[in-house]
Formats: sequence, C-alpha cells, structure tokens
Amino acid sequence: MDKRIYFDHAATTPVDPRVLDKMLPYFTQKFGNPNSQHAFGRETVCAVDDARDEIAACIGAKPSEIYFTSGGTEADNWALRGAAYSLANKGKHLIVSAVEHPAMIATAKELAKKGFEVTFAEVDEYGAADLEKLEKAIRPDTVFVGVMTANNEVGTIQPVKEIAALCKAKGIVFFTDAVQAAGAIPLNVKEIGADMLSFSAHKFYGPKGIGVLYIRSGLKIEKLVSGGHQERSMRGGTTNVPAVVGMAEALRIATQNLDENAAYVSAIRDRFIHRVLREIPYVKLNGHPEKRLPANANFSFRYIEGESLLFSLDLKNIAVSSGSACSSGSLEPSHVLLAMGLPEGLAHGSIRFSFGKDNTMEEADYAADALKEIVVKLRALSPLFPKELKNEVYPKEQ
Ligand code: PLP
Repeated sequence: MDKRIYFDHAATTPVDPRVLDKMLPYFTQKFGNPNSQHAFGRETVCAVDDARDEIAACIGAKPSEIYFTSGGTEADNWALRGAAYSLANKGKHLIVSAVEHPAMIATAKELAKKGFEVTFAEVDEYGAADLEKLEKAIRPDTVFVGVMTANNEVGTIQPVKEIAALCKAKGIVFFTDAVQAAGAIPLNVKEIGADMLSFSAHKFYGPKGIGVLYIRSGLKIEKLVSGGHQERSMRGGTTNVPAVVGMAEALRIATQNLDENAAYVSAIRDRFIHRVLREIPYVKLNGHPEKRLPANANFSFRYIEGESLLFSLDLKNIAVSSGSACSSGSLEPSHVLLAMGLPEGLAHGSIRFSFGKDNTMEEADYAADALKEIVVKLRALSPLFPKELKNEVYPKEQ
C-alpha cells in the first residue's frame, strides 16, 4: 500500500477539519486577549465562555468546574500535587494505581521525595484496579486516590464508579485521568462520582496543547501555575483561545457521534484482533477482552522485541506504538504490562494498535497480512525462537 496507515490514535489524532474551521478565525481576525476590556477582548471572552459551557455539558459538569490547562500532563500534575498539598494537614498518604500514565507516576514519585507516602495500587492480570486490594491499601491518613478511567497502553476500562463510591464513603478525594476515555466512551462526572477528572483535546481530533481539569465545586486544591487571574485565579496564563474553541467543537462532535464511532472502530479492531490471534502463533492479547476501549488492540509477540516490530511495520507505512508513545524511546519494558504480571520478555514484545474513525477494514487486513509476514521474518532471525517451532504451520486446524 502506497498510502500511509495510521494506527496510533491513542498517541494523538489529526485535527478534524470542522474543528480547524472553528479555530481559524481566532488566530487572525478574532485575536483579542479575553482578559482585555475592549471589544476585541469581549469577542474572545464570549467564545471562551461558550466553549466552557459546551465542554461542561458534554461531561455533566457545571461550567465553573472546568479549568483549562495545557493538556493532560498538566491536568494530572495539578490534580495530584494540588490535592496533596492542600490536604497535607489532614494526611499525607496518596494512592495511585500502578498502571497510571507517567504524568501521574512521575508526579507521585516526586511527592514521595517531599514527605508524602505513596502506594502504587495493584492491578489484576488485565490491568484493572483490584477493589479489595485498593480498599486494604486505604489508611486513616489517605487523602487522595487516582485511578485512570481507561488505560492508554492496553485500553482496559477501570471500575471508576465503584472506586469513587469507596473513596466518597471514606472522605477521600478521587481523581480519574480520562485522557484516553474522553470522546471514546460515555463520560459523566456526576455518574462516575469523581472529584476531579482530566482530559486532553488531541486524543479526540482536537488540537494539541490544550486540556481540562474538572474540579468538583466545593473542592479546594492548590494551584499549580501562578500568574494572572485567568481560570478564576486558579491557573495563570493567557487563554489559548483557538485551542479552547477547537477542544469544545472536537468534544461536541465526539460526544454526538460516540456510539456510531465506537461501533465503527471496534468492528475494525475486532476483525484485526481475530485475525492476529488466529493467524499468528505465540501472541497474547493484552488488556481486558471485553472491558476495553473500542479502538485499542495491544499484543505481545513472543520471541520478538516490540521495537523491531514497530520499525518493520513503519517500513511498510504502518504507524503503531510500542508501549505508550510518551515512554517510547526508552527501552524499559512497559510498567503497565509488568504491573499486570507479564514476564519481561512478553512486556518487551508488546505493540499497541489504536484505530480511528478514518481507518478502514482494508487497512486492517493489509496490516494483519504485513504483520504475519514480519513476525515470521523476525522470528527466523531471533536467537530466542526455538528451532523446533520454525517449521510450524499456522493457523492450526481446529
Ligand atoms: N494521561 C493519559 C492516560 C494519556 O494517554 C496521556 C497522553 O498520552 C496523558 C495523560 C498526557 O496528555 P497530554 O499529551 O495532553 O499531555
């Protein structure tokens, strides 16, 4: 195939042309600073207010509970640091699931060096939080629990409602990183019962560098970015008006077409998974078989390094990710797969395919064929691959 195939939508998505159209006037004609008191400012402050209303409506929040940030990483950092510091006089124990995004894990590790105690809560073999173990990890001085809505590497959807209820009963702040979930599965802060929730526009066909931290009204956390009076004096910095407008439009479109998009991408994903598991030997599907994001397929290929697979697929114009995009470049095995109990060998051989609304069945078939060929070639070269398996015919007759 001459065309490039993009199966890395969990890393980022292209901006939807309708989103871009909405954004464009705010770069040139409507460029006023929303904090300015003249007509130029009034024009953009209205656009920001409308965007805030739209976003709040999409997730069942009040507009005053929406805080714009520079993306998911900042929102995650703010939620965890902000809650930790504001609640430090009540308790200094923080619980974060072991499969969180590095934006949470790294922040938790930094807080651990600053006098807080952190427990990385265990997950089961699918990467889902274990409620019993989580409850046992809670102590009288626990003030914060952070568990993502859905995992970025393996796509497993977490029992966030149950976790929120548990935290509420014990008076603990519950935060969920919904960066992978927003625009992909239904998301309502009130239904979940979350005290805080984060998401990022570039994961749902919006622009990069813009995100949201939802903070339930009544909850006070410390600010992360000091400066002007933007975001009710809670997050300084001139508002990125085009990005805010684009994020609202992207979330509106994603929310309106949620079921249709989920059905479309999951059909492609399911066919791909079916073919890979049937036609390639020694493969493991990582993550929960059903409770997973509609677009995610993550496999471990035994006897092969994920990086070699990624580069071989790239040579065939197929873009995928090994582990999470944010931590690729490092040769560390995925902390998510290790937390799920995968041996290092399998954790090293993992590849994530994440599908999008512009992908087709033909692309999935082309990729499955290419993958089959590549796996055979790489295993033939692999010193780890047992000789007696080399002539095995696959798929085996049932
Ligand atoms: N949280 C999760 C679950 C993610 O997948 C990502 C990005 O990959 C982030 C946070 C960080 O978001 P951003 O890229 O907007 O900083």
